[in-house]
Amino acid sequence: MLDKFGRNIDYLRISITDRCNLRCKYCMPAGCDMVGHEDILSYEELLRLAQLFARTGVRHVRVTGGEPLVRKGAADFVRELKAVPGVEKVSLTTNGTLLEKHALALAGAGLDSVNISLDTTDAALAREITGSDGVVDAVRASVGLMRSLGVPVKLNAVLLAETAGTVTELARFAEEGVPVRFIELMPMGVGRFERGYDPDAALAALRCVWPDLHPVDARIGFGPAQYYASAALKAPIGFIDAVSHRFCSGCNRVRLTSRGFLKPCLCFDEGADLRELLRSGADDAEILAAIEGCVFNKPRQHCFDTPQDMTESRLMSQIGG
Ligand code: SAM
Ligand code: SF4
Repeated sequence: MLDKFGRNIDYLRISITDRCNLRCKYCMPAGCDMVGHEDILSYEELLRLAQLFARTGVRHVRVTGGEPLVRKGAADFVRELKAVPGVEKVSLTTNGTLLEKHALALAGAGLDSVNISLDTTDAALAREITGSDGVVDAVRASVGLMRSLGVPVKLNAVLLAETAGTVTELARFAEEGVPVRFIELMPMGVGRFERGYDPDAALAALRCVWPDLHPVDARIGFGPAQYYASAALKAPIGFIDAVSHRFCSGCNRVRLTSRGFLKPCLCFDEGADLRELLRSGADDAEILAAIEGCVFNKPRQHCFDTPQDMTESRLMSQIGG
């Protein structure tokens, strides 16, 4: 459906858990509160909502978290989402560390694509960022496995001051045909206490290795990345620089937290408490009206450049990225 600024909102990100097996320092601090199982929406509740969202015109659903693969039944949920009338693509965002165990089930469930988050190929740095050992090796194995199963993979890396010296090494995944996207650090939750790496500086560093990197119109998936290609790369390199290059006029997405709160914009805590409606016995028409009202009133743009105007205090792990 169209929001009041004429944007077509056809992309829904569903967080299925706040929990995670990693503790990326810009996302989820050690010791943060865990949501109780009864507080998160059941798969039945999520599917009922997905059907209603599809009626509003949502065509692409991304399953995220926390780490979605720590929740039992994630692959079955993907299968059920794929069966929702109107839903054309179902994708997953994961830290990749648990993928090996779930790869076959996810591929069998019809998963259309997977985004794997990895900020650096330097094992010691990765440990410092995520709080865990073995992340780089696990992600390398998962990338290979998913590709061998025919599921398209992209890598997502948050640009951090401490990973500045490793972006070109990470970008080498694109030499093997895996699109790599660099994401500007957003001042959300604990992310506001970290130092990011400027996307333009990162692009300049990449051009020292691949001087012919040039912008291309490629659209891979449903996101707002600006892609760059080089004759030496089998896949493009993308930048998602929401903070410094605002792309709100083309925003097509809304987010559902694992507690069933519908968020039309990252920066603001306004939205619709769909869990409250679901659990108080609202019928489909009432829930649909709440979804449509919230989507229609999606804010015009984020306010990362004036952080004092941000009203959202949730962690990224609670929102789903
Ligand atoms: N656990 C999964 C993962 O890491 O891919 C899915 C959830 S995670 C919240 C989704 C994405 O949000 C990850 O790519 C992560 O790097 C990104 N993210 C988390 N905090 C961020 C921040 N402050 N700024 C930019 N991206 C962030
Ligand atoms: Fe977990 Fe993903 Fe957040 Fe890292 S970015 S702490 S893997 S939810």
